[in-house]
Amino acid sequence: MMRGMRHVFRRFAGVLAALCLLAALIPAAGAAEADDSRIIRVGLYYGSGVLPTANLDNVDGYGTGHRFGYFQEDGSFVQLGYTAEEQISMLKSTNIYLTSSGTYATEPSSGDAGVVGCYHLQLPGSCADFDTARAAADALSQGFVAWINGTYYVRWGSFTTSEEAQSAMAELQAELSALGQSGDGLSVCWTSRYGVTVTHTRTTQILFQFDGETEDLALGVMPDLTGAANVQTWFKNFKYHGGFRYQRIGGGDLTVVNMVPLETYVKGVIPYEMSGSWPLEALKAQAVAARTYVINGLNGHSSYNFDICNTAHCQVYYGEGNNTSRAPSATSDQAVDETQGVLLWYDGKLASTNFSSSNGGGSESAVNVWGRDYPYLMGKLDPYETSIADIIPSYEWTVTFTADELTQILRDKGYGNSQIVDLEITARTETGNVLEIRFTDAAGRTYTFSRDKTRTLLGLRSMRYDIVSGGSASVQYHINGETTVDSLSGLYAISGNGAVSAVSADQVYAISGGGDTSRLPAAGGTGAGEFVLSGTGYGHHVGMSQWGAYAMAKQGLTYEDILLFYYTGTYLAPME
Ligand SMILES: [Zn+2]
Repeated sequence: MMRGMRHVFRRFAGVLAALCLLAALIPAAGAAEADDSRIIRVGLYYGSGVLPTANLDNVDGYGTGHRFGYFQEDGSFVQLGYTAEEQISMLKSTNIYLTSSGTYATEPSSGDAGVVGCYHLQLPGSCADFDTARAAADALSQGFVAWINGTYYVRWGSFTTSEEAQSAMAELQAELSALGQSGDGLSVCWTSRYGVTVTHTRTTQILFQFDGETEDLALGVMPDLTGAANVQTWFKNFKYHGGFRYQRIGGGDLTVVNMVPLETYVKGVIPYEMSGSWPLEALKAQAVAARTYVINGLNGHSSYNFDICNTAHCQVYYGEGNNTSRAPSATSDQAVDETQGVLLWYDGKLASTNFSSSNGGGSESAVNVWGRDYPYLMGKLDPYETSIADIIPSYEWTVTFTADELTQILRDKGYGNSQIVDLEITARTETGNVLEIRFTDAAGRTYTFSRDKTRTLLGLRSMRYDIVSGGSASVQYHINGETTVDSLSGLYAISGNGAVSAVSADQVYAISGGGDTSRLPAAGGTGAGEFVLSGTGYGHHVGMSQWGAYAMAKQGLTYEDILLFYYTGTYLAPME
């Protein structure tokens, strides 16, 4: 993987020529190794989670130093500079304060160890390439290389105001004079709101500055200058493969994206979505599902300019993990290698490979959960999962709600305001999952919820359950204004022609002296009713059951058996 991108290009005839050269030398993603060379853009920090500063640290023994540049559309890296430093920090180019504990902050505080100001001095003219600029910068006490939208400059120092920078000019002129150089033409400079400054972590020493001057041209960092094998980088207590992109969307803080080859990405998903200690064939099924999911959802977070996020919203991903929690295992890596490039298809299109932890004995058709029909996401009874029910943690679950709690849940979600007195299951699917539930309030109004809402509205573990006590038994009906009964059984109505029939909750009406007819309300407000729900399974029930996959693998079935059982009518094939 990444072959052809490890070269360090240091000799540029000019920036434009260099870019052309790089474009010619770096093979387009997908040219030779169609599957593995595809770069996946994984969002790590974005939206409300953007960071003002972000550190990187080479994992000992897995690469040294860092290269600066940017990523092209196809994920290939264009190198613009480099540093041998193992610990670097990317700072949005505003005034960033170095605290006494060595971290960076956007606001000053007492005891600060220093500041990385956003104003600098700039030497006149530009440099042809990074090495020329760096040689000039290294000759100065506080010099550094800045790449500003295609041009290399030598900059010096950092100041929190333009005036401070101006008044430091004499100091730089003295340095230049001592080197036998002219001190003429110095200017005060700063970056656009898209700029990023790279420092040596826990210091104010600037190593590089990048400003694409547009939102779309963002700093990229690739680890390692040495061609080390299996390169890894620490970021926020996890070890990652691949590179990182720091984009200031809207000129804001850093949106941090991990740029990682497809197969390496899948290796960083499996142990977090399914334990790396599980049987190989189950892990292989999970690998195909995870690989198909990401290819199916490329550019899924387009507003943040990446393909897939690292949470359960898409797929949980923590790269190589860390030394204290789950991490890829030899078996989970083997599962990815042995299925390299394999995807799940239906009728010439990639399948939606939804999965959940366990289906409680019966999976569910997508149309009955999300309202959208997929011919291969069909509910079926699951004898495999059922056969290991006794080893699945929390397989059976029970939860109790009081009528008051149900009332509050509906109020919080904006449904009605009066006391809930009844909850019933009013429809089930062919595989026995709950398709529809109905609440009744004290005024006799009903609130019906269907599909996934039968699980999510009440925060249940699954949609496979019964109401084992409660329900209509806790409802009370007024009779003649005085008497109340808690059941309609045994109550009969006599019609005008003398016919007698049993009454149901929908049919009880009172007739006033004036002849007005009104529905007879159930008595509410007691809050005494309790509803006990008991079920099996955990998750949305669509597609593969991970515990079912475990059971099938333990029985000696293959990953293909597993996938074709849970995804009706699908087949395995590589990318077309
Ligand atoms: Zn997502």
